Amino acid sequence: MRLTVLGTSTPYPRPGNACSGYLLQSEVASGERPTSVWIDAGTGTLAELQRHIHPADLDAIWISHRHADHTADLLVAYYALRFAERGPEHPIPLIGPEGLLDRMSAFLGPSSVGELPRVFDFQAMSGWGDRTIGGLRLEWGPVQHGVPAFGLAVGDGSTRFAYSGDSAPCISLEELAEGAGTLLVEAGYDGAATHDEAPAHHTPEDAGRTAAAAQVPRLVLTHIAETVTPADAVARALAHYAGETIAAAPGDVLAV
Ligand SMILES: [Zn+2]
Ligand SMILES: [Zn+2]
Repeated sequence: MRLTVLGTSTPYPRPGNACSGYLLQSEVASGERPTSVWIDAGTGTLAELQRHIHPADLDAIWISHRHADHTADLLVAYYALRFAERGPEHPIPLIGPEGLLDRMSAFLGPSSVGELPRVFDFQAMSGWGDRTIGGLRLEWGPVQHGVPAFGLAVGDGSTRFAYSGDSAPCISLEELAEGAGTLLVEAGYDGAATHDEAPAHHTPEDAGRTAAAAQVPRLVLTHIAETVTPADAVARALAHYAGETIAAAPGDVLAV
């Protein structure tokens, strides 16, 4: 599979770097059409997505949780799919946490209530689940983030890719990552602040520990706190993990 990094910024976009968003595509022979899944629609990612694919050609959209830095561009994706010169041939599967479509229509206004289902074929995630989209099999499970949030694993029959979404370390993420060749972890917590609430993000050290526990050969760090440089994040993860470790940058295209 091929993963294109649309943005890594947290918790708001910076010049040249959108919020959380990734385009995952199946690997196909030249001339064949890949299966394309947009994973998280953070602010700014719709514009980046269009460097690679027409939105109407998406096979599915998968949203980890409702926070704006992962969902905000769904609002304008609705406009793109409804009003662009070419719309989708059928509603695009939109897999996300329960209530997502209601939140969108509350923001977009009453006229969207009947129109959103013409654009999106919404499937709510409430626990463990899976769905086959074209040549890809998506599996998800609940992760720890203080709001309903999900991690994702995607297989193409030969390789497996896993994505944490925003999450604190948790056993369900390790389960999803088992057998994956690449684990993409959002390491949004710098570890500096003390807080009384339950953990909601990975630190870079946590990401290393999760990758080690899941025994994956490669860790990709993303959504790294602004106070941590990508090089420092990689070094901190490597203190707890011996596999290949890199930091994602916007525009990266990775074989996963
Ligand atoms: Zn979040
Ligand atoms: Zn986030």
